[in-house]
Amino acid sequence: MIHRPLAAACAAFVLAVGAAAETKQMTSNQNQLSSDAGYCPPDDKKSACGLPSRVVIDMSKVTVKRTDAEWRARLTPEQYRVARQQGTEYPFRNAYWDNHADGVYFCVGCDTPLFDSRHKFESGTGWPSFWQPIERGFVGEEKDASHGMIRVETHCNVCGSHLGHVFDDGPRPTGLRYCINSASLKFMSRADYDQWVAKQSQPLAQK
Ligand SMILES: [Zn+2]
Repeated sequence: MIHRPLAAACAAFVLAVGAAAETKQMTSNQNQLSSDAGYCPPDDKKSACGLPSRVVIDMSKVTVKRTDAEWRARLTPEQYRVARQQGTEYPFRNAYWDNHADGVYFCVGCDTPLFDSRHKFESGTGWPSFWQPIERGFVGEEKDASHGMIRVETHCNVCGSHLGHVFDDGPRPTGLRYCINSASLKFMSRADYDQWVAKQSQPLAQK
C-alpha cells in the first residue's frame, strides 16, 4: 500500500534536490552555535527536550543549502534561533503544542512535509509531539551529550534545520516521542495539503 503522505514526501524530496542545484553557496559558519540559544531547565524527564542542543550536523550531506544571509532573510529571528542555531522555545508558549487541527507540519527551512497531525499526541510537555515522522528518512538523528544527558537530537535531513529530540517513552505503536519545536515547523491544513500534493505530483505523473 502506498501511503499518500509518503508519496508527497518523496515529491518534496525531488523538489528539494532541484532547489539544491540553485543554491550552491554555503557559509562556513552555519554550524556555529550561538550562546544566546534558549535554555529551559528541565522539571522532569519529559522536559529534557527543552534544552538546547550541542550537536554538529554534517551540512555536507544536506541537499538544500543557503547562506547565513539567506537563512536570516527566510526565517523570523525566533525560527532562525531555533532551527539554525539549535535553540529551543518555551513550552506551552509556542504555536503548535496545543494545535489539534488536521493537517501536516512542514520544515520551516525547506518546505518538506515532516510530521502529520494523525501522528500527533498529547505528551504533556508543552511542545508538539509525534510518535513518528511522515518519512523517517527525512528526519536525521544525532547523539546529543550536552547538559550531562544523552539525548537524540533530530533535524531535517533535507536542509539541516534543527527540529528537537526523539525519546523512547512515546505511545504505541512506535514507542517514540518526537519532541519538536514549533519554530521549526509550518502547519498546513489537510485541505491545503491535499492541493499541495496534487500540485507536486503533476510533473511526476507526466513522466
Ligand atoms: Zn528542512
